[in-house]
Amino acid sequence: MNTAVVDYIIVGQGLAGSCLAVELLNRKKKIAVIDFPMAQAASRVAAGLFNPVTGKKLSLTWLADELFPHLHKFYKDVERITDARFYFPMPVYRPFVSAGEQNEWMGRDSDFLSQYVEKVYSTPAFESQVINPYGGLLVKQCGYLDTIAFLTAIRNLVAQQGILLEEWFDEQALTVYPEKVSYRNLNASQVIFCTGVSANQSRFFSWLPIKPLKGEVLQLQADEVVPRIYNRGVYAVPGVWKAGATYNRFDGTTGVTPDALAELTNGLRSLIRFPYKITGQLWGFRPTVPDRRPILGIHPHHKNIIIFNGLGTKGVSLAPYFARQLVQWLENGHGLNNAVDIQRYKSVYWKSA
Ligand SMILES: Cc1cc2nc3c(=O)[nH]c(=O)nc-3n(C[C@H](O)[C@H](O)[C@H](O)COP(=O)(O)OP(=O)(O)OC[C@H]3O[C@@H](n4cnc5c(N)ncnc54)[C@H](O)[C@@H]3O)c2cc1C
Repeated sequence: MNTAVVDYIIVGQGLAGSCLAVELLNRKKKIAVIDFPMAQAASRVAAGLFNPVTGKKLSLTWLADELFPHLHKFYKDVERITDARFYFPMPVYRPFVSAGEQNEWMGRDSDFLSQYVEKVYSTPAFESQVINPYGGLLVKQCGYLDTIAFLTAIRNLVAQQGILLEEWFDEQALTVYPEKVSYRNLNASQVIFCTGVSANQSRFFSWLPIKPLKGEVLQLQADEVVPRIYNRGVYAVPGVWKAGATYNRFDGTTGVTPDALAELTNGLRSLIRFPYKITGQLWGFRPTVPDRRPILGIHPHHKNIIIFNGLGTKGVSLAPYFARQLVQWLENGHGLNNAVDIQRYKSVYWKSA
């Protein structure tokens, strides 16, 4: 490759790097994306579910009122730009675990219900497909992203409109100058690291508290026509036919485990009634942060080195919104949300330096 000058080098093309690439290309920026597509990258393993009402207590997720309208528009626009199909909105049905939980929901505040809940069922619904003796909650503004199709579409877009290098980025080959960076034959104003849990091996970012959280999912095959996602303990996502996921902070090993297989098959047994075959099992590490917020911003010592990471368990819903925020900050000087700004960990950096 001859010497090329770009505005930004993006390292890593998972959900973070992909959403960022879209935002920068939309602003006609020149970009180079360098990604080694690891099969186990969280973005490739993920079931792709997005759901504003989560957790055992079924509460509204952080920033839901902003994230969800944004993600609907973002993925639909990218489908149009790339002429590809990867965004599948559909409701999530969450059976109640007890009569007590059902009672709580029957008396819930109606504003919340009208915005996020399609219907509260006090008796069993969709009985041929799901076990739900106490009824359940049909949640709206949900769905799934076929992450592999999305990453492929963005890869093609970058190959057409920018520079795509399918290789491992060697940090030793990066030279940082006061006003630019250079990497082999590439010169750029800034480099943005979107490397997920690999940040832990980075000479620039290994001091950040990015904790790998292992997850496993099952790949299923089923003939049933399922127009919604079922979710209680485990979720079953039609279309991509993935069921998951496990959360194991203590397992740092690579590969799938019999424990996860048992946990997920038991979960499915008490959730769905339709027949399915298990055709595979996948594993990966989510890049989580102790305060459960993404990490965006500038390296404390190098103003040309930026990070976009820490998407944790919710990359599909967080990445579009925070990619836009990062680009508005880089290009227009808009502020970053304090909750996600890398500045909050500055003292950790100076202690480690
Ligand atoms: C089992 C499982 C299920 C999940 N399910 C969901 C879900 O249903 N919904 C949801 O919203 N989220 C889910 N997640 C979480 C979601 O996958 C993550 O939040 C998200 O994928 C993180 O994206 P990322 O781009 O930051 O990192 P990654 O996906 O890890 O992407 C980083 C990319 O950078 C590349 N890279 C790293 N270092 C280098 C280097 N030096 N040179 C070149 N390339 C490099 C990697 O190969 C990779 O392609 C799940 C995760 C797991 C593991």
